[in-house]
Amino acid sequence: QKDLHTKYFGQHYIYMDSTDSSNREAKLLAQEGAPEGTIVVAETQSAGRGRLTRGWFSPYGKGIWMSLILRPKFSPIEAPKCTLMAAVALTKAFHALGLEAAGIKWPNDILVKGKKIVGILTEMSGTMEEISYIIMGMGINISVEKSELPEDIKDIATSFAMEGVMVDRKVALQTILQELENQYNKVVSGGFDTTLEEWKQLSVTLHQDVEVRAPGNTYVGHAIDIDRDGNLIVRLPNGKTERIIAGDVSIRPA
Ligand code: ATP
Repeated sequence: QKDLHTKYFGQHYIYMDSTDSSNREAKLLAQEGAPEGTIVVAETQSAGRGRLTRGWFSPYGKGIWMSLILRPKFSPIEAPKCTLMAAVALTKAFHALGLEAAGIKWPNDILVKGKKIVGILTEMSGTMEEISYIIMGMGINISVEKSELPEDIKDIATSFAMEGVMVDRKVALQTILQELENQYNKVVSGGFDTTLEEWKQLSVTLHQDVEVRAPGNTYVGHAIDIDRDGNLIVRLPNGKTERIIAGDVSIRPA
């Protein structure tokens, strides 16, 4: 921890050998009043979670399975800003760690050459007016090997090791926390536009043909922009534009 130069991200640190889900642990801590910047890191998760009912594969010691507590003073509709800022921060950290090919897939994944290396799960609690806390769950594949991937993600997942980039988990964590804190400070002090611009630069979804699967509706179009609320703007073949709200959709190259 002495090598960690953040002011508050990771300065409260809960290390667990094993947990069912770091987001669940972090939620309990947040409810007990844990300060902003507190992280829960586990060596393994037995029931790591993704969005909706999806799971996150978290083998022992092979990744950074982490949840971060945030308490931004903005309204709940602005919460997607946190997911966007985390994606930007992680991607910049990856570039600094030597993984230059990492890019952001809207809304919450980081990909390397089309394969997923990170999943981000944002969960929020509060009222319509005020956020009580946000839990940012991040699953980062570090030394996961292809041979140990479950069959269903064998062809869609990657890791630093699989990309030939050897990193020390501790160094990676320090770099990531520093970038997260930088981006977060920028966002909460009114600098979200810069983060949004960076997001657009780092995106692998924008300017691509995409297939969007929303409940009861699948359509193909061209991803042309992302708005300030984090919605993806897709132009359909009939020329109309559709605003896609994250949360209940799955998206892939068309
Ligand atoms: P989609 O890629 O369809 O948009 P999503 O963003 O809804 O998925 P997440 O909640 O981010 O999905 O992540 C869960 C999914 O990620 C799982 O359903 C599985 O396919 C995949 N997955 C699970 N564990 C890992 C892992 N360690 N590395 C890469 N991918 C994983």
